[in-house]
Amino acid sequence: MSLHFDNSYARQLPHACVSWPPSPSPRPRELFWNPWLADSLSAEFQQWDQARREAVFGGVEVPEGAQPVAQAYAGHQFGGFSAQLGDGRALLLGELIDRLGQRVDIALKGSGRTPFARGGDGKAAVGPMLREVLISESLHAMGIPSTRALAVVASGEWVSRERALPGAILTRVAHSHLRVGTFEYFAAREDLQGLQRLLDYTVQRHPPDAALQDRAQGDTALALLMSVVQRQAQLVAQWMGVGFIHGVMNTDNMSLSGQSIDFGPCAFMEAHDPATVYSSIDHHGRYAYGRQPAMAQWNLARLAEALLPLMVGDEAHRLDAARAAVQAFSTVFEEAMAQVWRCKLGWPAADRLEPAAASELAKAWQALLQAHRVDHTLGWRGLLDVVQARPQRLFDRFGAGARAASEWVDRWQAQARSSGFVIDAELLERSNPFVIARNHQVEAALASASDEGDLRAFRDLLDAVRRPWSEDEALQPYGEPAPPDVAASHRTFCGT
Ligand code: AMP
Ligand code: MG
Repeated sequence: MSLHFDNSYARQLPHACVSWPPSPSPRPRELFWNPWLADSLSAEFQQWDQARREAVFGGVEVPEGAQPVAQAYAGHQFGGFSAQLGDGRALLLGELIDRLGQRVDIALKGSGRTPFARGGDGKAAVGPMLREVLISESLHAMGIPSTRALAVVASGEWVSRERALPGAILTRVAHSHLRVGTFEYFAAREDLQGLQRLLDYTVQRHPPDAALQDRAQGDTALALLMSVVQRQAQLVAQWMGVGFIHGVMNTDNMSLSGQSIDFGPCAFMEAHDPATVYSSIDHHGRYAYGRQPAMAQWNLARLAEALLPLMVGDEAHRLDAARAAVQAFSTVFEEAMAQVWRCKLGWPAADRLEPAAASELAKAWQALLQAHRVDHTLGWRGLLDVVQARPQRLFDRFGAGARAASEWVDRWQAQARSSGFVIDAELLERSNPFVIARNHQVEAALASASDEGDLRAFRDLLDAVRRPWSEDEALQPYGEPAPPDVAASHRTFCGT
């Protein structure tokens, strides 16, 4: 038996990739394996022992049926355009149809230089690859669309960064690796035929829903643009709800499927502040927490530009339609955000509730969290303390702002009463995580794994982030923010 690869990307878009083999790891050793994810992909994985996994996911052996390719893409990085980026250190091994009939990409990251590597070494270090595991599993556990990690295999060689670090290969499962930058690649070359084939492929892989197709009136490029606007609005709204900061929302890191992808200097915000930036390379706060919706919209404008030549009608008409689709992001995002807030406020879904009321109340709460530097996660989670009749635990987090917090809580409860419903404690609980991947804990776990080869802290933290809603005794240490001095100095580096 073997895995049933079906490599539609390599087959249908040969002009958008280069066949390329992985560089074999000299001494592959498995650091992480995701048996549940594997099982959802194929029963075949149950037959694979660790040695087999180390060979395949360490780049030593290409599994039967796989056809590794490096994908081409361009991208706007921090606002500046690069006409050629591409998989410099990643390979799409191929696609599997998972047990639900869904097509997914299986890709390696850190598997050696490719023709797109430019000056890079094609490698990845253990720390950043395990970071991707923690962050993506955390998002996934919270129900936020994300690519997933199937395996991490240490390569047994050193990679040269600020200092020498142990190398690793991550295996990633994604609905696809089609990015805004993939369209930009062909648009920049004015390759209309290539662009059209990419469009055909993308809508086959990620079809716009029927309502959008109707609204686009047979304009496939417009329908795709509108559907990516919706997916991204929903995704970013969910990030905002849990305080997630992607950190490097370049157009090459924005997926057309609507999954979170490419975890570099990402982190969950602690003390609530829209200006929060953790990335050491984001000097101007371009991708700060509060700027993420605007940056998503900016990226979508780049997608619109790339799609313009394929749109229907004369130029003025196409420009109007593209502009309207990108502008619609604001409304779609506000609606998606209002839904997120409603859940975080524990308000059951009901027609008579004004979304604007949820947004207004939520914004007032966030303003209080910001004014009193309250932890985003615990500030929201604390609403559960209120319904569990121990509000003081929450108010204590506000210091001098305790009274303002208590007044807000009165408004929140009064609003529920006047609308004739009861705040839904269960909804509150599963919309406001207790456990997130906290920066100081992520750093500590990665340092032990990378410097000492000790995976215990990583595994414990992974177990914890997979149970975001629980406040079990064992999870208490994971709910605590970093001491203020540690939090203030936290930076994540892009030297990934
Ligand atoms: P990222 O910042 O991971 O989204 O990567 C941006 C671009 O740089 C992509 O084209 C990557 O393939 C490329 N890249 C990043 N790191 C390396 C590396 N170590 N070797 C080769 N290419 C790299
Ligand atoms: Mg990237």
